[in-house]
Amino acid sequence: MNGEKEMQKLYDVLSGHPKAIVIHCADPRFQKAFQEFLKNELNLSTGEYVPIAISGAIASLTEPSSFPKEFKVVNDILTLFLDRHETIKTIILINHEDCKKYEAMKSALGRSFLKNFSDIVTRQKFDLQKVAGAIVKAANLKKELRLFYAKFANTEHTKIEFEEVKM
Ligand SMILES: [Zn+2]
Repeated sequence: MNGEKEMQKLYDVLSGHPKAIVIHCADPRFQKAFQEFLKNELNLSTGEYVPIAISGAIASLTEPSSFPKEFKVVNDILTLFLDRHETIKTIILINHEDCKKYEAMKSALGRSFLKNFSDIVTRQKFDLQKVAGAIVKAANLKKELRLFYAKFANTEHTKIEFEEVKM
């Protein structure tokens, strides 16, 4: 032993007073775009929002009867953070193009999954509105809700753009 302590890198603790909660998919292709979009266009830096990154984002909240366990997990996480942080004023829901979770749900549920919808994109946008409505109603929330659809901006699928979906 030479008595010298190895230098350890230290990391900052952020404030812990988030302004928003964001539910988006865990798809690695979209993570950088989500973070940059939130910072650049919604003025939310890391630490200023609670990120809930789960496969399919709000997909599990749209089929409680088909996927009750997934529904419970996502709903519990959302409720927990809303209860714990009164500073959260905005809930942001993001769905995205080419979501593997949506593909999996379509395979699992068969024809009924796209009943009343022309395609997955239409269903994904409708789901954002449906879940947003349910969140507001269930908790009688006085929170602002913002809904976005992230989609590829070019045919090579190397760029992503965000479209706001009205409530
Ligand atoms: Zn996805």
